[in-house]
Amino acid sequence: MHAREWITAATCIWIIDQITSGYGSDSEITALVDQYDWKFVPIANPDGYAYTWSNDRLWRKNRVFNNGSSCRGVDVNRNFPIGFGGSSGSSDSPCSTTYSGEVAFSELESCAIRDLIAADRGRVKSAISVHSYDQQWLSPYGYSTEFPPEYAEMLRAMEIGVNAITAVYGTQYTYGSFATALYVGSGVTTDYYYEAEGVVHSYTIELRDDGTYGFQLPPDQIVPTAIETWNGIKAFVNAI
Ligand SMILES: [Zn+2]
Repeated sequence: MHAREWITAATCIWIIDQITSGYGSDSEITALVDQYDWKFVPIANPDGYAYTWSNDRLWRKNRVFNNGSSCRGVDVNRNFPIGFGGSSGSSDSPCSTTYSGEVAFSELESCAIRDLIAADRGRVKSAISVHSYDQQWLSPYGYSTEFPPEYAEMLRAMEIGVNAITAVYGTQYTYGSFATALYVGSGVTTDYYYEAEGVVHSYTIELRDDGTYGFQLPPDQIVPTAIETWNGIKAFVNAI
């Protein structure tokens, strides 16, 4: 969804490989796949992602033309309707990196994600939005510093996930609500899955690193990041 967060796509693809190659031979993976359908969107912002390879490694938004502005791109993760346009968690300026777009669901990418989750309405146990960086596991709300009614259950599940991430290589993660642990984010997917689709276990995971390399994570950290993240997700799914 955010073009420059390359480790997220690599991690999703690595997990897909683990699931597809481990089914039938790895007992834990086999059980998880027998119990749940798993859907992945490794690249939710294709033109933005291509642009980070061709022109600007640190581009974040998509590459849409904005009416009346020479600045391109909408932040797809500010284009969802829950808290849309909140001034402290997004921007109404097309030149901003967190430009929300003129209206919620103005973007093809956010509509595609909306339709994907709506197709399974009523049977989605969890939805995880994978981002980088900051090493955090974040629950609703993004648009408000208040806590949702199920926050105690969210904390229980997040703690299990974070502890399983740390158990692999000692990577330190924090967890909590998006707005209180990271910053206020308005119109984000995690609030949408929770409020509009009723998915209690809706989270944003911010992968490595802590800011040393930021979005330009060295290649030798790709597989370790994927391994520890998958360990955390497996433990979390087994606990909900
Ligand atoms: Zn992101």
